[in-house]
Amino acid sequence: MQQYHHKWIDGSPISLSCGKVVCIGRNYAAHAAELNNPIPTSPLLFIKPATAVVPLEKPLQLPDNLGEIHYETELAILIQQPIKSASPEEAINAVGGIGLALDLTLRELQSQLKEKGHPWEKAKAFDGSCPLSSFIPYHSSLPLNDLYFELKINGNTCQQGQTKLMLTPIAELISYASQFFTLQPGDVVLTGTPEGVGKLNSGDQLTFQLQDYAQFSTSVS
Ligand code: ZN
Repeated sequence: MQQYHHKWIDGSPISLSCGKVVCIGRNYAAHAAELNNPIPTSPLLFIKPATAVVPLEKPLQLPDNLGEIHYETELAILIQQPIKSASPEEAINAVGGIGLALDLTLRELQSQLKEKGHPWEKAKAFDGSCPLSSFIPYHSSLPLNDLYFELKINGNTCQQGQTKLMLTPIAELISYASQFFTLQPGDVVLTGTPEGVGKLNSGDQLTFQLQDYAQFSTSVS
């Protein structure tokens, strides 16, 4: 696995070690619908450990023989202040940067686990399951609730996300997560995937756009 360290968009290092990644499932109604899932009444949270994180822009090494691996493109939030049971305002004050991540998912295994009512970790938290981009420094004029991002695979647009369509907006999501999990500097929050998820194949070329702030690209080994 590729060594991962948080970096700013200009390539300079961020002096926080990568911690846990708190993720939300089904934060966009159209994605819940495409997988025939009901919309949850409260945010559905799960965690990827730091060992899941790899640099987005290095070729992705995916596990063999574990079934289909699906991409989910998500806005990623870097936490830079410790927060516990934070209000939405306190949550926003703890944000240090924004970037993009893939929430890679062993979809066939996840379906089996869901059917049995078992936890999702094996399908969601395996080594390399969280390719993470560099971060744009957050400042209060950055419109967190009105950001656009997209994923193209081999030149075809596969996912387009608009943060205004989130069921739980970013401030409320971080606040909610911090009721259960203390968020430490260097932790990351993934904010859910829009519709358009699908299978990754060896040789795929992926390009990502985060509004006009950043562009990232990678490939599947
Ligand atoms: Zn996801």
